[in-house]
Amino acid sequence: MSINLKQSVKCPKCEHMSDVTVWSSITVKDSMDLKSDLLAGKINMFKCPSCEHIGLMPHPMLYHDEDKRLMISFSPTNDPVLKEKMFSDIKESSKNSDELDKLEGYNLRFVTEYNEMLEKILIFDNELNDKAIEVIKLMILSQDIEKSEQRNCRFGKVCDDGLEFMIHDTIENQIYTSTVPKSSYDTVYTSLIESGMKPYSFDWEVVDPTYATRLLNGYNNNF
Ligand SMILES: [Zn+2]
Repeated sequence: MSINLKQSVKCPKCEHMSDVTVWSSITVKDSMDLKSDLLAGKINMFKCPSCEHIGLMPHPMLYHDEDKRLMISFSPTNDPVLKEKMFSDIKESSKNSDELDKLEGYNLRFVTEYNEMLEKILIFDNELNDKAIEVIKLMILSQDIEKSEQRNCRFGKVCDDGLEFMIHDTIENQIYTSTVPKSSYDTVYTSLIESGMKPYSFDWEVVDPTYATRLLNGYNNNF
């Protein structure tokens, strides 16, 4: 079920008041238009009609794609302590409500960044798994280890040559692309599965570079 509410918002820049539609839940089968708007970065974005200031509404949202068996809980924050708390809260409330029983075979993801949410939607739309993608992203960044701290890498798209990744260098302020053959993805995915990685979730998961590092080091309990 897709759910929204209207909120009156004061622009943080010019203090103009305007009404914004805030989505707290998006179910893909209800409306493909909503999904397109989300992928275009229009959902829960505030745009001031007076000064055109743009900002993300600090509002949590649940994304649900029944066909892909994907559920993403998006809770916007930059605070690592708050992130930990919200992550344990969602796990706790799911456990208490038995809702996980109905989500067998699902991938359940907890994210705190808008772009991270969009990236995961794209990954699963392309029939890929984000755990293998995160491992490949680490491999790409480790090719230039001295600059890996200042760079972040995101899945871009599937093209004829394979999987295209975007590398953003925050110091050089440059965007590079890197293409990985589909066969390399398949190799990584197969070896992760053979090592015991499950292609679906038993609980909410944060699948990020830290997760991928744990996978590579074999420290993950589910692994
Ligand atoms: Zn404004």
